[in-house]
Amino acid sequence: MNTIIFHSQDIEIARNISRGCSGEIESRKSHIRIHTNQLVDLTTYREEYKLDLNYLPNYFDFSGTSLYISDMDSTLINIECIDEIADFANIKSQIADITERAMDGELNFDLALIERVGLLEGLNVEVLERVYKDRLQINPGGKELINFLKSKSIKIGLVSGGFTYFTEQLSKDSGLDYSLANTLSIKDEKLTGKINGPIVNATAKADFVLELCEINSVSTDSVIVAGDGANDLEMMDIAGLSVAYHAKPKVIKQANVVINYAGLDKIMDFFDD
Ligand SMILES: [Mg+2]
Repeated sequence: MNTIIFHSQDIEIARNISRGCSGEIESRKSHIRIHTNQLVDLTTYREEYKLDLNYLPNYFDFSGTSLYISDMDSTLINIECIDEIADFANIKSQIADITERAMDGELNFDLALIERVGLLEGLNVEVLERVYKDRLQINPGGKELINFLKSKSIKIGLVSGGFTYFTEQLSKDSGLDYSLANTLSIKDEKLTGKINGPIVNATAKADFVLELCEINSVSTDSVIVAGDGANDLEMMDIAGLSVAYHAKPKVIKQANVVINYAGLDKIMDFFDD
């Protein structure tokens, strides 16, 4: 028996899908479950109804997870911070184009980051605060998800190919447990256009997952990882459960769970309560 998590309360659509796979409907507080013996192609339904459906992964023990690790930009938060910083140098479209291609996996991450950070040279550091205060928001359902994970004593790690200024502020303000990102080099209150220390790329993100598993003495099989870009694929690959959140096509293709339309709170639907 398979269970389809229908991340919506639209009972009519759920009934349609259920009829198509001779399923049985079970209403839950936040969503509807469809139990069926058949395997159906969820991609077609996602596109037809513009809503989220996933199989309940029977290989993953949601009650046994104690670590949730999320990418930051465009996953936990609504923006790509580097694009917004670039706006203050009037080069947002130029930078955003490189970001987009890097996240699609078309460009080498390190080179694309070095190039973009180089273009920010000379900007006053106060723009970082303006981006954080005026533009950065947690994505819909993110606060509910964070509170839920905390209520389950699940530790939360934030990892980003972006910058420590944002991961550290956000971790502090939201009470997250761990964070890792790139450190922007600053001299005389201005960005130097360089990064201090090693670049947090796809491999560094995966290493961070391994490190947090070791610190918490848990297996990677029990970890949930969420991301949206090509630089999240390595860490998603080693996690017990990977979530693609409003993600790039390559990421959607590899992820165990796909959320394309609704908010981050839909991740809570998989937990059995
Ligand atoms: Mg991202």
